[in-house]
Amino acid sequence: MTAAVRVVVIGGGQAGLAAGYHLRRAGLDFVILDAQAQPGGAWIHGWDSLRLFSPAQHSSLPGWPMPPYPGPGYPTAEHVVEYLAAYEKRYELPIRRSEPVTDVCRDGGRFTVSTDTGEWSAEAVISATGTWWRPFLPLMPGGFTGRQLHTVDYRDPEDFAGQDVVVVGGGNSGAQIAADLAGTANLTWVTRRPPRYLPGHIDGKALFDVATRRRRALETGQADTGGVGGLGDIVAVPTVREARDAGLLRPRPMFTRLDSEGPVWTDGTRRHADAVVWCTGFRPALSHLASLRLRTTRGRIPTEGTRVVAEPGLHLLGYGDWTGPASATLIGVGMTARAAVADIKAMLETGGSQA
Ligand code: FAD
Repeated sequence: MTAAVRVVVIGGGQAGLAAGYHLRRAGLDFVILDAQAQPGGAWIHGWDSLRLFSPAQHSSLPGWPMPPYPGPGYPTAEHVVEYLAAYEKRYELPIRRSEPVTDVCRDGGRFTVSTDTGEWSAEAVISATGTWWRPFLPLMPGGFTGRQLHTVDYRDPEDFAGQDVVVVGGGNSGAQIAADLAGTANLTWVTRRPPRYLPGHIDGKALFDVATRRRRALETGQADTGGVGGLGDIVAVPTVREARDAGLLRPRPMFTRLDSEGPVWTDGTRRHADAVVWCTGFRPALSHLASLRLRTTRGRIPTEGTRVVAEPGLHLLGYGDWTGPASATLIGVGMTARAAVADIKAMLETGGSQA
């Protein structure tokens, strides 16, 4: 069976919902297809103590602000999931769950989007599938016999009580998981370069402002104001700040191999490890677009804003700053979604998506 709509959105996490909000406002007929049975996107999979790096009022999707978090500190992942579930209900977004998209291909001037249960024909497609589903692990020689995990597998420090644990990664996940483990496991924190903490007053909202200022400057031909990269890598959320200030986060440089017992550094130093947690990031989850044979550079498909250069009817939303400033954050994705939908609407009004 093939159903026809004007726009298919692939992915019903925060980016897919923001797209849905703007598609609804634009009066376009659409469907959102999501692989998971429940709402919440990647937020349902984070580790137990995961919290936002911004307060609720700076973590909102378009239209409806995130309700204040009732407890102390920044909102928990559970609070985000509740917000996303309520958001899709509030705007009656047409989401079909447990519908992983397996393929997208061209069919004349339209796209055919395939799932396990059927096909959708659309004039435009927004892919908003995130990165959580494609964890990146560097290849490391040596034959380590202990446990190896990625950020996506980590849940709770109690699983590692009293164990020798190596956390690899100097970004937010690495710092937060290292802080989470610090009092419970014998922690070794390894980073490729010395950790760069953002000043205490910089949170997700400030990062969004920096990214937006930079985008505006570049678009209007002004001097580059510098991205968030110049400020540091790690948001000093309370757990990280406390562990750092207590001297529990003492970074070591990257090791060169992992032998059966644990890491070995260039100078021959060794350390025993029961487990290594790789907080080494993600790649965009884009395998459903393989049939379109789009050229990729380091896992990224060339885009202008969100529009795929080689397929003007296809937009990529979320994923990272390369599809819009802070578009992989709650506060940032709304602006990018609005631009993507405006672009699609203009394209549909002027006669289709022929590449
Ligand atoms: P996702 O949440 O991953 O949603 C994608 C959806 O697409 C999922 O529901 C998935 O099931 C579905 N999907 C995937 N493949 C398919 C397919 N083939 N077919 C159909 N559906 C598919 N941002 C903030 O603003 N504040 C923070 O504090 C913050 N902290 C973060 C902490 C961590 C550890 C991480 C990893 C990210 C954090 N982010 C934060 C960044 C960002 O907000 C999240 O990564 C967010 O989940 C991205 O939303 P998304 O909708 O782009 O992707």
